[in-house]
Amino acid sequence: MCGIVGYIGSRQAFPILMKGLYRLEYRGYDSAGIALLNGDLKLYKTKGKVADLEKFVFGKDITGTVGIAHTRWATHGEPNNVNAHPHFSQSRNLAIIHNGIIENYLALKKELISRGYKFESDTDTEVLIHLIDDIRNNEGVTLDEAVRIALNEVVGAYAIAIISKNDPDMLVAARKGSPLVVGIGIDEFFLASDAAPIVEHTKEVIYLNDEEIVCIRRGEQIKIKTIKNKNKTPYSQKLEMNLSEIEKGGFDHFMLKEIYEQPRSILDSMRGRLNARQGKVKLGGIIDYEQKMANAQRIIIVACGTSWHAGLVGEYLFEDLARIPVEVEYASEFRYRNPIITEDDIVIAISQSGETADTLAAIELAKSKGATIIGICNVVGSSIARATHAGSYTHAGPEIGVASTKAFTAQVTILTLMALRLAQMRGTIKKTRFYQILNELESIPDKVSETLKIDTKIKELASLFIGTRNFLYLGRGYNFPVAMEGALKLKEISYIHAEGYPAAEMKHGPIALIDQEMPVVVIATNKGTYDKVISNIQEVKARRGIIIAIVTKGDVAVKDLADYIIEVPETEELLVPLLATIPLQLLSYHIAVGRNCNVDQPRNLAKSVTVE
Ligand code: GLU
Repeated sequence: MCGIVGYIGSRQAFPILMKGLYRLEYRGYDSAGIALLNGDLKLYKTKGKVADLEKFVFGKDITGTVGIAHTRWATHGEPNNVNAHPHFSQSRNLAIIHNGIIENYLALKKELISRGYKFESDTDTEVLIHLIDDIRNNEGVTLDEAVRIALNEVVGAYAIAIISKNDPDMLVAARKGSPLVVGIGIDEFFLASDAAPIVEHTKEVIYLNDEEIVCIRRGEQIKIKTIKNKNKTPYSQKLEMNLSEIEKGGFDHFMLKEIYEQPRSILDSMRGRLNARQGKVKLGGIIDYEQKMANAQRIIIVACGTSWHAGLVGEYLFEDLARIPVEVEYASEFRYRNPIITEDDIVIAISQSGETADTLAAIELAKSKGATIIGICNVVGSSIARATHAGSYTHAGPEIGVASTKAFTAQVTILTLMALRLAQMRGTIKKTRFYQILNELESIPDKVSETLKIDTKIKELASLFIGTRNFLYLGRGYNFPVAMEGALKLKEISYIHAEGYPAAEMKHGPIALIDQEMPVVVIATNKGTYDKVISNIQEVKARRGIIIAIVTKGDVAVKDLADYIIEVPETEELLVPLLATIPLQLLSYHIAVGRNCNVDQPRNLAKSVTVE
């Protein structure tokens, strides 16, 4: 959600900042802007894409070795040229970019208006820059000190970066609730919402913590202090990311590349953690807490969106294998309920970005009640990874496409490993069965590769549904969350209305929608409630619905009933989600491409949802 880039050094800032904005496009945004310092403080911004900004600045003065740039995801005020960031202070000496929400902006705004400040935009951000300006003017303090004082008056979430005409060799930034990374080069520094804009320049980075302010001065060591004025020793780390991981590598879209990466990302998520021959599952990140997990009276999974669907698969896995009761909660609901949480509870928080605001808040709530929190995140060093007691990273690699694909299957892989380990510790699984599942899990990356071969067939199938307005997705048991995830994927990128339902629930409502225009995607693999699902297919057919069935290779019964068949390889019932998800991702992708949708950056969506 929103992107921040900053540069201070000896090179021209503009090309570095623009490239950085392009690298952050995947996070989702509606307008873009840039501020550059070269004696004068120049500010250019526009509604639309980064490419529109590039066109807009054509022929204008873009010189300067210090600058900040932003992609905005509007929260306060519509996406237009005025509300786009950066924002000037009244004196036009300061420029700010901001990610997040200043919750008490109205009270602050009222106060500032009464003191003569004029507002150009509808944003909450402009309040912050006027406030900083005001403190600076009235208290005669340095810019970083004014920022610090101002942030003590602010309620909400922010990642900010500020430059000043009066301090041309300085860049000040701070964060709370929204991520910020500083890159350290030779005689130059970079700032960004994540490592993507930095990785091609330097591998040495510092992740800022909440309530930290960084003061970056040209030619000096960087200084970090907290908003409570405590000095912090900067802790630099080496970036593990490679440039190739954040480029398209010959694919038309990041989403397609990421779908195709799943054999590897699932394998990477299991690597060093699973040894089927020796009957071993070892998750290093939770080793100190696994006994506590095995003793848990209950597991609560908190997540949002696709991660919530992975959590639902987790519920089936933990209950089935480890016999521990599980509740799966939307983090946004959980945090505002008065949930019953005890010290014996294990809370598993799942988030691709590790920055999801609602999930973070749910973690803090559960922590305050004494629960043990385990994280499953994709982004190393992210806020959730740091806020949890322990956790396991999904090693999916950077996910750029806004619609999550490889992160989902990696999350399910980790949940499977966790459930198996707990089952082993609790003695709820027979040894032979345990070995059987482990062996099958090891073969999943190859089976995902095999599943991907149906891509051409799915592309043809997708072309028949470009103009469709509604879709229903049905599944039971382990395939119910798969149906939900399939529907979400279609909605997100093609803007076709889709609903995922437990197949048997169809007759309690959605069946009313079925007619000859309604495609129904049924996940009807050959285990578990297969026979029941066949009955559900019959019910759809009786009402002339169009059946697209995901079946196990060699299936005959469904083949006779369905209008279209997509085969996935045979596997254990509990591992089917890892395979059945793939054709649904491809179906959404090809339908969206056929409808000329912006697959990697669907409208209104953000990759990492850092506001609640
Ligand atoms: N709340 C700010 C605005 O609406 C920042 C939004 C963002 O994170 O991009 O302008």
